[in-house]
Amino acid sequence: MLIVQKYGGTSVGSVERIEAVADRVARTIKAGHSCAVVVSAMGHTTDELVTLAKAITRDADPREMDALLSTGEQVSASLLAMALQTRGLQARSFTGWQAGIFTEPVHGNARLLHIDSDALNRVIGQGIVPVITGFQGISGDRVTTLGRGGSDTSAVAVAAALEADLCEIYTDVKGVYTTDPRVVKAARKLETISYDEMLELATLGAQVLHPRAVENAKQFGVRLVVRSSFHDEEGTVVMEATSGFELREAVTGIAFEREVARVAVVGVPLQRHGLATVFKRLASDGVNVDVIVQSVVGTDVVDVSFTVKEEDADRTVRIVRELQPELSFHDIVCETGLGKVSIVGAGMISNPGVAAQMFEVMAGADIPIAMVSTSEIKVSCIVQADAVERAVKELHAAFLE
Ligand code: ADP
Ligand code: ASP
Ligand code: MG
Repeated sequence: MLIVQKYGGTSVGSVERIEAVADRVARTIKAGHSCAVVVSAMGHTTDELVTLAKAITRDADPREMDALLSTGEQVSASLLAMALQTRGLQARSFTGWQAGIFTEPVHGNARLLHIDSDALNRVIGQGIVPVITGFQGISGDRVTTLGRGGSDTSAVAVAAALEADLCEIYTDVKGVYTTDPRVVKAARKLETISYDEMLELATLGAQVLHPRAVENAKQFGVRLVVRSSFHDEEGTVVMEATSGFELREAVTGIAFEREVARVAVVGVPLQRHGLATVFKRLASDGVNVDVIVQSVVGTDVVDVSFTVKEEDADRTVRIVRELQPELSFHDIVCETGLGKVSIVGAGMISNPGVAAQMFEVMAGADIPIAMVSTSEIKVSCIVQADAVERAVKELHAAFLE
């Protein structure tokens, strides 16, 4: 089999951990498989690089920011290649451009365009283990990065390009759990989860996989397993929901985010296409708007509230204020310190009343809900950030224990 193995930050967080990873790769090769490895930066390296940049400037050139952040993965890739060589294996590190990983011309959150896998195929054919830096690619002559947590996406894309039989994501938990096991002790490891449910969980804040990794795995039919680099226990298989799936309750998992802000624009005139103007402008400035609630007040104005990431709040208010002369809305209000709690499950489609049950649990726990958004397989509630953890525990107890 050709296996792509991805090791996250904690899994390569020290020399000892890199040695342990090298042992695991060596065992995989010894078992008769071919292997390509994708690595994250060691431990909290990426955070530390961000802190360094912030100490120099609050407004770093995006090109230089990506040049800086991409260095973390180069350290772990070359160290792991050395560790493999000391075990008598042939290994070679590859940066994003050396591995032929091409992205769109965007810094900080670039999407992958394609992978020219010739170089990787060639070395694998020669019995050399490529150790590839995750999280980075190239666009023209620029190094780009794929967004925080993006090494998962690198691994899935490499697996798709190499037509690998399996993509293993090695991390610091034993698989995908019903919710973050660091927050809820009673969280259970799932044997399997569908691409669609995993994509919702990842998008709604479950850090364990990068959303685009799940999207790509679904699109290219990559067999994806999430497992621990600290144990040999089997992990969670992320796959198409076909046969072999456990019969599920309505809810499969719970995800949450803490740093959410709500912006309310009051008195937007209807006849001037006010809503379209606001959201078009935010989109063109790259602000990701999440939950939107609109209410018509009288006949000619609407109030609209929407959520953004807390870090985007100031910029969002600034952008909307600039539209004031054109739209003459009455007021703009921004509230920070919010969070979002979401229940996810394909079983909701055939189980009416799940949202009602969620609201009941929240009411029982005395947690006010500020906004709600739903899809076929999820219900999200915006709540105060300091109530997020309690909400997750209560919902887990109600739906998953
Ligand atoms: P890595 O550095 O290996 O990429 P991450 O920190 O990005 O690891 O992701 C793993 C973390 O995701 C876990 O330590 C856990 O706290 C968190 N997590 C959040 N939700 C879940 C979930 N549903 N199942 C498992 N882990 C989760
Ligand atoms: N090192 C990058 C980060 O910390 C990418 C990753 O770990 O997936 O976000
Ligand atoms: Mg990660």
